[in-house]
Amino acid sequence: MINGYVQKAPNFVLNEVFNQYYESMKSNNIKHKPIWNLFDPTKNGEISDVTFFEKLTDLGIDREDPRLESILTSLKNLKVNKDGVRKISKTVLTDLVAKQRFLSRLLEGENIIPDFQSFRKEVKDIFDSTKDKNGGKVADYIPQLAKVDPDLYGVSICTVDGQIIEFGDTRKRFTIQSASKPITYSIALEEHGIEKVHQHVGKEPSGQRFNELTLNEDGLPHNPLINAGAIMCSSLIGMDQHVSERYENYQRSWIQLNGGAIPTFSNTVYLSEKSTADRNFALAYFMREKNAFPPNINLHESLDFYLQCCSTEINAAQFARVAATYANAGINPFSYEQVFKPETVKNTLSMMSSCGMYDFSGEFSFSVGLPAKSSVSGVVWIVVPNVMGICIFSPRLDKVGNSIRGIAFAKELVSRFNFHNFDSLLFEVGKKIDPRRKKYESKVNETMSLIFAASNGDLDEVKRLHAIGVDLNQGDYDNRTALHLAVAEKQFNVLDYLIQNGADTGTKDRWGATPLSEAKKLKDKNIESILKGN
Ligand code: GLU
Repeated sequence: MINGYVQKAPNFVLNEVFNQYYESMKSNNIKHKPIWNLFDPTKNGEISDVTFFEKLTDLGIDREDPRLESILTSLKNLKVNKDGVRKISKTVLTDLVAKQRFLSRLLEGENIIPDFQSFRKEVKDIFDSTKDKNGGKVADYIPQLAKVDPDLYGVSICTVDGQIIEFGDTRKRFTIQSASKPITYSIALEEHGIEKVHQHVGKEPSGQRFNELTLNEDGLPHNPLINAGAIMCSSLIGMDQHVSERYENYQRSWIQLNGGAIPTFSNTVYLSEKSTADRNFALAYFMREKNAFPPNINLHESLDFYLQCCSTEINAAQFARVAATYANAGINPFSYEQVFKPETVKNTLSMMSSCGMYDFSGEFSFSVGLPAKSSVSGVVWIVVPNVMGICIFSPRLDKVGNSIRGIAFAKELVSRFNFHNFDSLLFEVGKKIDPRRKKYESKVNETMSLIFAASNGDLDEVKRLHAIGVDLNQGDYDNRTALHLAVAEKQFNVLDYLIQNGADTGTKDRWGATPLSEAKKLKDKNIESILKGN
């Protein structure tokens, strides 16, 4: 229970889009697809539960993933042998995968980052290379933040398919502080709509410090992501509700956003914040003097609620899942629940793009080009729209209050991957990688991908393409098949796989050559014996 998945998010619903999708997939007879081969079964046609979970780990599926619940129950019903292992037969596995469409999608490489292991390696490399950034210092305006270990460093990523990466201190809790402001803004938007909310708060970067005693020329806070704006949004949430209900709803949004884990609350941070909140009180009174608030709000309750939002605790693993929900148009990748409307998400991300990183927002938007929000506890959450959510936690802050390693990680990430908002997706820019692209599919169609993979000896890719139904005997315009190429390039593993799975050794290419005749020409006894099925 490390990650706190103790209960499902309340109001758990499968959204309509997902239901339609699921129905269409059920009719698409998955049982005939050779997904089984992806698990490298033993000769007697079984795999162990250990192998099964290793495969899930390779795919980035967390053991605590709530989508695994029914699979874990089915596996528990299998007998444990004397070595303490459960053997899974082909029928059982095919059934398990067919029941969980997310799993077959991942196995077929239909996810947003098909080569997840290479992506994870790059992220690890970025994590390691940014560890030595140990300048800056932790926030010290309250004792609870001052005594946090400055060397903590955790990075977690969650894709829109629910694939997870975690390095370092991702299970260490921290108070959310200003990183809560986008969520408060989203809740206010959901409750009142954009027009009403923006009658009370602007949309422009302030060009001033986040807690500056200043309002725009209409007497409103500049935007929802600085203190004045967040206090304003807090006052708009649950105006008719009792304070306890208001906080409960806020907490529920976090549960829904991360897919089930319950955030905790630091009363000590809250009390410290409250006793040092003179500036926030001053901002609230200033806004009241300017008639910025809606009628009949209770100023002290609104401030209390704002400080409670800041004092809520979460860890980086959970926060990455929250960010992934924002990357996924407001739908949580694990529960498939539509937590916020796509419109709310779009507006929140726009605001994060221009105002999320304190006085570094313009610079961040220029050099990293992704919506993000940071806070004094040393957390930065970043959204790569339609792809993934990222959370970096490292408490050493720079002069403007951003995590030093958080910024370093973000910059390195976009220098390796084409995630900057304005990176071209059509043309390759420098050496930037597009992890969204399937390895060979950008070059040609699936058959050509198979032939390329065979000639390069990429057995995993051959298996994946076979699993999604690509015909192993399909040839290119010269009628050269995967087998012709595997022979020519002496790719033994691929050859073996193709033969075991019925590839034809007698297919003639345009010049009349068959894989077998080519093998004979090469005078390679090993190849000939594989082709003859020995
Ligand atoms: N609780 C802090 C305040 O309102 C938030 C600080 C921050 O993370 O920017 O001053």
